[in-house]
Amino acid sequence: MQRIKSDLKLAVVLLCVFSLTACEKSNNNEPEDEYSVCQMGFTYMSGNPMIESPDGYYVFNGNFLNFYDKSLENPIVVCSRPECMHENEPEDKRTECNAFFGSQTDLKYYNGFLYISADAMKGDEACSIYKVSLDGSEREKIYTGAQGGGLQFVIYKGDIIVFEKQYKEDEVKAVLTRFPIRNPEEPNIIFESHDLEDPYINRLEYDGDFLYFELSDYSENIENFNYRIDLKTNEALLFCDEMDNGFEIGSDRVIATKNIESNSENWTWVNEIYQYSKDGKKEKKLTEEDYPALGRGASVQGVDGQYIYMADINYGANALPEEERYIYVYTYDGEEAARVLQPGGTFNYISRAATTI
Ligand SMILES: [Zn+2]
Repeated sequence: MQRIKSDLKLAVVLLCVFSLTACEKSNNNEPEDEYSVCQMGFTYMSGNPMIESPDGYYVFNGNFLNFYDKSLENPIVVCSRPECMHENEPEDKRTECNAFFGSQTDLKYYNGFLYISADAMKGDEACSIYKVSLDGSEREKIYTGAQGGGLQFVIYKGDIIVFEKQYKEDEVKAVLTRFPIRNPEEPNIIFESHDLEDPYINRLEYDGDFLYFELSDYSENIENFNYRIDLKTNEALLFCDEMDNGFEIGSDRVIATKNIESNSENWTWVNEIYQYSKDGKKEKKLTEEDYPALGRGASVQGVDGQYIYMADINYGANALPEEERYIYVYTYDGEEAARVLQPGGTFNYISRAATTI
């Protein structure tokens, strides 16, 4: 039976703008490091991350990197070439624009620079990671991926941890490689998928000294495996193993979803949602007594340091009428802190996650 991936996840917008708590500055052990919680991960199959820097936000608009100030108005193209017309340049000249990146797959801000993974730049064939100055004028390639795949990464305490698919003879592996930004010449493979037909890591996110991710096999029967890597030792563990439909990391808990039933003809599903401790012990099943939206079939979209975000079903046979579809913001204790109507039509968020498979 084909499993329906039921979570249509909402966002960096939700988690980084709507809830400003998600982007409060964090300190880590290196005092010179500066990053926001939104730097910690949010790497998924699709979507266009909006990245915070001290002065504003960076986001891709098509192939061109744009900058918004804190008011989120008046985007500017991140290009310092005099008289460059950016996306209005003729096609063969566009790659000259400082803001142009081909098939970009990830974007991060770290310590005064942007890090961008992109394909096929000026004759390069493989996707690479570039270190880019904030005005776009300087660009240095610091990592070249294996042929044929995109690169997605997190930046943890000065190290880049990058996911790519690597093709080796007849096999394809999902591989995580770690290297210090200051010394990219020393990459170290910290994870390789086991024997799967079509492996993919569709999220990658760290919390404290742990890196969490979901390894999926997109062969005929989709299978998901949750992993946690201790970044001090690079030791990988299966995590919340029965949960096959995603998990979200909070400050003192993990909220994980298990698919109980799914029907790929009329797009319906039944999920159960569980609370785990941060070290992976199952604590309880969440019920509509705890979070009333669960009684309407709402799914968990995200968890941050204070809140749990849920959203009503918006597609398939069990979708609620448009005027009754809400996004809920609950405190950890189940108190409803906010409720907003979902925007109508197609979701047009800067998406934090994969949509439907
Ligand atoms: Zn330009």
